[in-house]
Amino acid sequence: MAECALCVATPHVILWQDDFCRVVLLNDADYPAYCRVELIEHIKEMTDLAPSKRARVMKTVFAVETALREMFNPDKINLASLGNKTPHVHWHVIPRFENDKHFPNSHWGDAVRDGNVIALDEATIKKLAEKVSTLINCALDSTAA
Ligand SMILES: [Zn+2]
Repeated sequence: MAECALCVATPHVILWQDDFCRVVLLNDADYPAYCRVELIEHIKEMTDLAPSKRARVMKTVFAVETALREMFNPDKINLASLGNKTPHVHWHVIPRFENDKHFPNSHWGDAVRDGNVIALDEATIKKLAEKVSTLINCALDSTAA
């Protein structure tokens, strides 16, 4: 069996991580703010995790969603967890815009226009990482209390 793409060191920019999961910026050509929340451990399904850990994953996903909404004001957020090719728990968090390449289709669906992509500059990526970190740490701290 081929090596799991999420069990090896990520080639992507890490916005935040702890010993349980990490948030990466995929640097997708059509979706520059496309993030992914990846579990560190190779676990196949959300229901393989204890309920408290499932909640921890979702708190992280929602913190990323909130950061993306605050920074980019998208028309819609798409959340997706498939894992058919990579059966290792991960969530796609994708800010969508009515003028993006595939809207209103899934970003994996048929393209309907060229899209209007503006790559994120270093300062924006740094600000996104700070916002993601702040929101995740806040969400997880409230769990521990
Ligand atoms: Zn894996």
